Amino acid sequence: GRLPLLSEHPMMRHQTRIVLQNCGLIDPESLEEYLGRGGYRGLRRALLELTPEQVIEEVTVSGLRGRGGAGFPTGRKWALARRSPGEEKYMVCNADEGDPGAFMDRSVLEGDPFRVLEGMTLGAYAVGASRGFVYVRAEYPLAVRRLEKAVALAREHGYLGEDILGSGFSFDIELKIGAGAFVCGEETALIASIEGRRGMPRPRPPYPAEQGVFGRPTNINNVETYANVPDIVVRGGRWFASIGTETSKGTKVFAVSGKVSWPGLIEVPMGMPVRRIIEEIGGGVADGRRFKAVQMGGPSGGCLPQEQLDTPVDYESLVEAGVIMGSGGMVVMDETNCMVDVARFFLNFCREESCGQCTPCRVGVDRLCGMLEQMTRRHAPGTASEAEEDGEAVLRKVEALARSVREASLCGLGQTAPNPVLSTLRYFPDEYRAHVLEHRCPAGQCTDLLAY
Ligand code: SF4
Repeated sequence: GRLPLLSEHPMMRHQTRIVLQNCGLIDPESLEEYLGRGGYRGLRRALLELTPEQVIEEVTVSGLRGRGGAGFPTGRKWALARRSPGEEKYMVCNADEGDPGAFMDRSVLEGDPFRVLEGMTLGAYAVGASRGFVYVRAEYPLAVRRLEKAVALAREHGYLGEDILGSGFSFDIELKIGAGAFVCGEETALIASIEGRRGMPRPRPPYPAEQGVFGRPTNINNVETYANVPDIVVRGGRWFASIGTETSKGTKVFAVSGKVSWPGLIEVPMGMPVRRIIEEIGGGVADGRRFKAVQMGGPSGGCLPQEQLDTPVDYESLVEAGVIMGSGGMVVMDETNCMVDVARFFLNFCREESCGQCTPCRVGVDRLCGMLEQMTRRHAPGTASEAEEDGEAVLRKVEALARSVREASLCGLGQTAPNPVLSTLRYFPDEYRAHVLEHRCPAGQCTDLLAY
C-alpha cells in the first residue's frame, strides 16, 4: 500500500491553515515560490483596485483581532492610525516573542517571511505609512537572516521601496534587532527600544496611534496578525469572518508543548475546544500519564484544569475560564507537575524580566515569588518572614498580594504576572494547602518541605 500523506496524520487533519499555509512547503528564501503560492496577490489587488479605506473596511469586516494576545480589533486600530494627523506615519511589526513555550512568530518568520512583509505593506497602504520596522529578537538568528533576505528581494522586485508596483505608493521596511528583554514586547517599551532608548514602558495615553516611534503616529501589530491580512484582502473579509466564533474570527496558531505525544506548531479555527487540540491534534498526554492542566498565554496567562477543557479557543470564553488567549503558547502538564511550582516558574520569569521602574511589580512580584519559593523549598530555609504564620493566613496573603500587583502595576507585564498564581489558586487550592499545611507535594516534585 501507499505511505500515508502527512496531511492525513491526525495532527494535520484537524487543522485549518491560513497563517501557516506555506510553512514547510515553500523555500522561504525564494520570492518566486511565494509568488507561485499566490503571494503578493493581496497587495496587487489593494494597490490596483482598492482605496486605503476599502482595505480597512475588508479588515474590519473580517473581524480580525490582534494575535499578540490583547485581541484589539485590527480594522479599528488601522482606522485610528489613518485618522491620526501627521505627514509621516510608521508601521511596526512586533516580533519580540519571548514567552516560555512560544515559538509561533519564530516559525512564521522562518517559514514564510514574505507573508509578514506583504501584510505590513498592506497595513502601511491602509493607514498611510511610509516607513516600517520589524522588531525581532536577536535570539532568532535564522528568522533575522530570512527577513533580511526577504526585504532585499522584495525591494529588488518592486514590492518595497519607491512607487511599489508602479502604483505611486512608497513604503520601506528596516529590521530592528532586540536584545532579549521580554518587556520590549510591550508596545511603549518597544517604541523606546526602536528609538535607541532603554526599553521601558510608559503610561498611555498618548497611544502609539497618536504618538509612537519618534513621536509619529504608529501602528503596531504582531507577526501573526499581519500574516492573516494578505488572504483577507484576496478572499475578502466575509470569507475570513465565516471561520471561527461570534466574537473571535479566523484561526489561531498555537505552539503546543509539554507532556503531549505530538508537540508542535498548529493552526486551528477559533472555537475549537482546548480538549480537541490536546487530545486529537496533540495526540493526548504522553506516556499514558493523566492530564492535569494546560498553561495558556505564558507568564501572562493561566492554567486550565481538566474540568474546563471543553472551553473553546475564543478570546471571551478563555477569559471567563480564568485564562487568556495570549499569543499562543500551550504548555500541557501531567500528574507529575506541581502546580505551585508551575506558578513559581512563571512568576520567577516575570521577576527576572521586570524593568523595575514601578514598585508593585518590582517589589510585589519579588515578594510573591519568594513566598512560592518558600512553599516549594526553592531557596534556603528561614529567609521568608512568613515562617511563623499559620498556613491559611499565608495563602490569603499570597492571593491579596497577587491582586494588588495586578491592580497597581504600570504595564501589562506586572498587571498579568500574578495570573499564573491566581489561576492555580483558583483551580488547585488543595495543592497549595498540601504544601503549606501538610508539608507535602501531591505531585511528588517538591522535596524537603518540612520547615515552612
Ligand atoms: Fe516595568 Fe513591571 Fe512596571 Fe511594567 S509593571 S513598567 S515591567 S516595573
